[in-house]
Amino acid sequence: MILRTVHANITALQVDAVVNAANSSLLGGGGVDGAIHRAAGPELVHECRLLAGCKTGDAKLTKGYRLPAKYIIHTVGPVWRGGTNGEPELLASCYRRSMEVAATRSISSLAFPSISTGIYGYPIELAAQVAINTVRTVLPKFPAIEEVIFCCFSASDLAVYDSALVL
Ligand code: ADP
Repeated sequence: MILRTVHANITALQVDAVVNAANSSLLGGGGVDGAIHRAAGPELVHECRLLAGCKTGDAKLTKGYRLPAKYIIHTVGPVWRGGTNGEPELLASCYRRSMEVAATRSISSLAFPSISTGIYGYPIELAAQVAINTVRTVLPKFPAIEEVIFCCFSASDLAVYDSALVL
C-alpha cells in the first residue's frame, strides 16, 4: 500500500476514483466540488439528483463522466465549529466511508482532496492528521486499494501533508 501527496488539481488526476468534498445536497457548490462538476460535465448532476443527498460523514459513488477518473466518491465533511461538535469523528468517517465505498468497486487508486479545509474552515494541520491517521488505520482492511493520494491544491497545504505523513 502506498500513501503519497501531490500538488495538483484533482480533476486532472489519472486514478480510478477521486473523492469530492461535496455538500449534503450533492448538487454542486464551490471549491473542489464546483471544479469537479465543471470538469465532469452536466451529466454528473443528473446522476447526483438520483442519490437524494448525503449525510455529513457519509459517501456516495457516481461515474466520473468526462474526468480521467472512472468514479467520483462524494463525501460531505463537517463544518468546523470549534472542534468539540464531533468534527474529528465526522471527518474520519468521510475518509473511512469513502474507502468502504471504493472497495465495492475494483478501485485500486484513490485521490482525496483536503476535505473540509476550504469553505468549511477545518484547520489544515488538524485535518491532515485525521486524514492520514484514518487512511493508515483503514487501508489494511482493503488490500485491493493499492494507492491513496492526498491531493493538495496549494504548496502550503502540500507542506502540511508532507510533514504529517512522516510522523
Ligand atoms: P470544503 O467545503 O469541504 O471545505 P472546499 O472545496 O472549499 O471544501 O475545500 C477543500 C479543499 O479542496 C481545500 O484545500 C481547497 O483548496 C481544495 N481544492 C479546491 N479546488 C480544488 C481542486 N480543483 N483540486 C484539488 N483541491 C481543490
